[in-house]
Amino acid sequence: GDAFLSVRDLYVHFATEDGTVKAVDGLSFDVARGRTLGIVGESGSGKSVTNLAVLGLHNPRSTEVAGEILLDGQQLIGAREKTLETLRGNKMAMIFQDPLTALSPYYTVGRQIAEPFRKHTGASKREARLRAIEMLDKVGIPHPQSRVDDYPHQFSGGMRQRAMIAMALVCDPDLLIADEPTTALDVTVQAQILDLLKDLQQEFGSAIVFITHDLGVIADIADDILVMYSGRAVERGAVREVLRAPQHPYTWGLLTSMPRLTGDVGEELSPIHGTPPSLLAPPPGCPFHPRCAFTDEVAGDRSCHRDRPAPPAGRGAACHLTAEQKHTFFTEQIKPR
Ligand code: SF4
Ligand code: MG
Repeated sequence: GDAFLSVRDLYVHFATEDGTVKAVDGLSFDVARGRTLGIVGESGSGKSVTNLAVLGLHNPRSTEVAGEILLDGQQLIGAREKTLETLRGNKMAMIFQDPLTALSPYYTVGRQIAEPFRKHTGASKREARLRAIEMLDKVGIPHPQSRVDDYPHQFSGGMRQRAMIAMALVCDPDLLIADEPTTALDVTVQAQILDLLKDLQQEFGSAIVFITHDLGVIADIADDILVMYSGRAVERGAVREVLRAPQHPYTWGLLTSMPRLTGDVGEELSPIHGTPPSLLAPPPGCPFHPRCAFTDEVAGDRSCHRDRPAPPAGRGAACHLTAEQKHTFFTEQIKPR
């Protein structure tokens, strides 16, 4: 296919003193160049862990990774650290929620943008500095020539976020992984950063994986959605489809726990009741069943408490309800609220 990143039947398990944590439990997805996949879920759903595994940033001693992670056809699971290091920066880059985890306080912003560029292209110091200025300009830092020698603490939070994006994009990565990159920012700056990512994607044609707990952000930036729960995909599809006619009770919960997409303020939010499942001892059957209000509606011989629903392939949801029930429950019981 034309997937740039292809994840197949991925398992990420951690050994802990209490047993094995199944953080990712049989996950598959694809991202093509020029497309943005939004991965949404609560903390502990496996969305961040998945992407640390893609980047090869998990701890190899305590973590077992199985399945396939193909980047432009190259298998990353079991790849040597040296190979992964070259790919990070060159072919794939990441943006995290907190720029201070990515930016060192001891070096100028310009140097931190220039260094990876020099390392991957062999450019001279002068060329790399010019490139850093160009990147600061691209991410919307005013007067970049006079800011390039500033230290991170001389930048505002929003500017640091932009600087980190400049650092991530300086080598034109083909795959960009952004993990909650706008969560800590106010709404205005958040909107600017999302616009910026869209512009940069237009320019560089990168594949983007955007991880968030916020469906509103997904609606704004993504082409496709993957909803994760308990280390598994529970719903997937094109953004428009999933937001118009979501099929999984967990997705319904996410939708009703966010402010309306119409932007009404002061509206009462109803968080999904219950807590995310233990990844040490996930519930049998459908992992969502302890929190689901629809278990009694499942007809036939399938049981939410016993039978694990198949993960969605293409548009769909991992749920035993019939297509008609999914439609009816959403339009008659969930949507009107
Ligand atoms: Fe709810 Fe059962 Fe569907 Fe799981 S399979 S989401 S428990 S109705
Ligand atoms: Mg996370």
